[in-house]
Amino acid sequence: MRFPLALTTKIAGYIIGHKLRGTKKFATVLQLEPLHTCNLTCTGCGRIREYSTSLKDMMSLEDCLGAAEECNAPMISICGGEPLIYPHIEALVNGLLAQKRIVYICTNAMFMRKKMREWLAKELSEGQNGKRNEIERKIDILLGKGLLSEKDAAEIRKGPKDPVKPTIAPNKWMYWNVHLDGSERTHDLIVEREGVFRECILAIKMAKVLGYQVATNTTVYKETDMHEVEQMFDYLADLGVDGHTITPGYDYDAAKKDMIKRLNLRPENFFLTREMTIEKFRKIDDWMNRYIFFGTPIYFEFLAGKRDLTCSAWAIPTRNIRGWKGPCYLMTDGHYSSYAELLEKTEWERYGVVNGVARDSRCENCMVHCGYEPTATLGLQSQRGDTWKNIKFNFGSKPKTRSNGSEIAVFNGVSCGNGHLTGKNAQAASAQAS
Ligand code: SF4
Ligand code: SF4
Repeated sequence: MRFPLALTTKIAGYIIGHKLRGTKKFATVLQLEPLHTCNLTCTGCGRIREYSTSLKDMMSLEDCLGAAEECNAPMISICGGEPLIYPHIEALVNGLLAQKRIVYICTNAMFMRKKMREWLAKELSEGQNGKRNEIERKIDILLGKGLLSEKDAAEIRKGPKDPVKPTIAPNKWMYWNVHLDGSERTHDLIVEREGVFRECILAIKMAKVLGYQVATNTTVYKETDMHEVEQMFDYLADLGVDGHTITPGYDYDAAKKDMIKRLNLRPENFFLTREMTIEKFRKIDDWMNRYIFFGTPIYFEFLAGKRDLTCSAWAIPTRNIRGWKGPCYLMTDGHYSSYAELLEKTEWERYGVVNGVARDSRCENCMVHCGYEPTATLGLQSQRGDTWKNIKFNFGSKPKTRSNGSEIAVFNGVSCGNGHLTGKNAQAASAQAS
């Protein structure tokens, strides 16, 4: 099957339950932002600038778990900021899993290997003989593949620094969701730091050895070379990555302001208009049969310009330190004290694009999954044949990959000597040149 059966049936059961009860608006995915602090400054990320970046500004663990219970979404996407900086991340993940939710940790992967080393240390110190042998065997594999250093292995064998601190263990309901916008050169330019792509790949490889589930998320910009993205998916398929999300990047307010102010770049040279999105995603039908995408065929038809959908941002709400953010993940017109209040007080009919006309000018170029995917998932604008299409997609067999990942030169940036300056270094160099 394309997706694990338990996962598909859990989500389907939840949606059917609401439909039978006649609930008009409900949450399918919660975008939970425990903090907005990040160790990177990616181009195009408005998040880390829209909100305070102080580490003390964060949600309490109770608020995070309470938000999930309040909206009761079956899937929780822990984002931010960088969620692995959140001091209670382990307790949060374990708490959400105890609530029987599907958890995605959206990460730039820079601390992923550290978190997995902490899990190994705890397993090794607490496990019985058989378990300890198994962990030692995995440590040997990781050493052999260059995913751990001898120093790392020695640290793991010393046991956890804080024996009572929980860890993030492999779990069939949990995914690491690694941000990857292209191969090495492109990705490191977008995240404005060299070496990040390499670390992402090492973390993904380590996670697969240890039995974690791994997904990736990719944003497509104006300059994105879709052939390169396709090659990246081939490469990731060979690493055993379990699925991908892909979404168009558009010029929402916070990202646009940052681009002008900090980088002196013109947003129209970076973000996609609707026409450009449709052009970029015209091959998505073909990709759907080759890679495991988290999404529905209906949403992909929308991205490819084959059908129209309206926005249902209420189904993927965002909760952060200031409250429930409305109307959507990208735009901020207010923060509310509860999900019920967000639903009640937001004038949903003011947002989205209907029959090609933007109800709010800021929505004009938006086709992002957090607005439009739920319209497809919930069958809010269904056409004849959609149900069968969805069943075939969700319950169908796994796509066959090309198995040519090892031939692809994804390390085409600094690690192969094709260095380039990013972020502050690039700014300093251009200032020196002028
Ligand atoms: S996109 Fe993610 S990793 Fe990059 S700066 Fe924003 S929060 Fe951090
Ligand atoms: S179309 Fe929906 S998701 Fe997109 S910016 Fe507007 S309200 Fe937000």
